[in-house]
Amino acid sequence: MKSLLILLVFIHSLLAFDYTLKPQKVSAETHCFFGLPEVMDERNNGNMVNSCFVNMGTSYLVIDSGPTYLYAKQAYSKMKEIKDLPISYVINTHTHDDHYLGNSFYNEIGVDIVGSNEFENETKLEKTRMQMNILEDAYSGTKQVFPNILVENKTISIDAKEINIESVNKKAHTKSDLLIYIPEFSTIFVGDLVFNERIPSIRDGNLKNWIEALDKIKSMDVKYIIGGHGKIVDKSSIDATYKYLTQLVDKISLALENGIDIADTVNNVSMKDFKDFKMYGSLHRQNVEIAYRMLEWSSE
Ligand SMILES: [Zn+2]
Repeated sequence: MKSLLILLVFIHSLLAFDYTLKPQKVSAETHCFFGLPEVMDERNNGNMVNSCFVNMGTSYLVIDSGPTYLYAKQAYSKMKEIKDLPISYVINTHTHDDHYLGNSFYNEIGVDIVGSNEFENETKLEKTRMQMNILEDAYSGTKQVFPNILVENKTISIDAKEINIESVNKKAHTKSDLLIYIPEFSTIFVGDLVFNERIPSIRDGNLKNWIEALDKIKSMDVKYIIGGHGKIVDKSSIDATYKYLTQLVDKISLALENGIDIADTVNNVSMKDFKDFKMYGSLHRQNVEIAYRMLEWSSE
């Protein structure tokens, strides 16, 4: 009976949904799993977000746990093939579910999870956005586990190296954006303040504060700037998001000054430099509309 049970568990583990994740080396210390420049769906099953592992010496620091329990479990097992280290902390860059639902795996293995104190204002949903958009098999085992260490600004030390966690403290991409800076490795993780290869979503953000946060990151002397979506990891990783947001503000401000209404602005502000970016078709018009309302309101 017992051996039958073991056999069934074994067969089940063979049949578990496989993300076929491949870690990419970013620097001597950091590997990332880079997600596709797409919206979550039943083909990518949430593998549209970045999750990174930093080898601190005797442990990994994980930045963003990814979209599901199975994703997180499979990512860690791939990292163990590179070097079998325990995990000291997981840090969630913000409260969007593609970045934190993998917490359910790390919580199960007893890892402390750090996130913005804005998580206090989040409620657990009956069904997450991820759950509604991906296959049930891929979502299997996933629970909404919020960080157990909530921070505004905090420095933690791992293997005598400092990790400076700093809250943007204003609504930028979200109200909960954290910057995670590791001076020793000249690396900063900036979550969804930086998107590349695709159009950012601005629905939970504030354009002016977002640009201000990017200005601050731009002024830093760092080698690696790693965002929440996209594979560019040097200082130029900021450029596309920066250019998109500043153009959006300029063009819509001009439309507002000239008294052009929202419908005409949505039709006219096409920003052709970005037409070839992924998700232009699904997000750009919506972004113009959101930005128009945001700037109209803030200029009143
Ligand atoms: Zn995201």
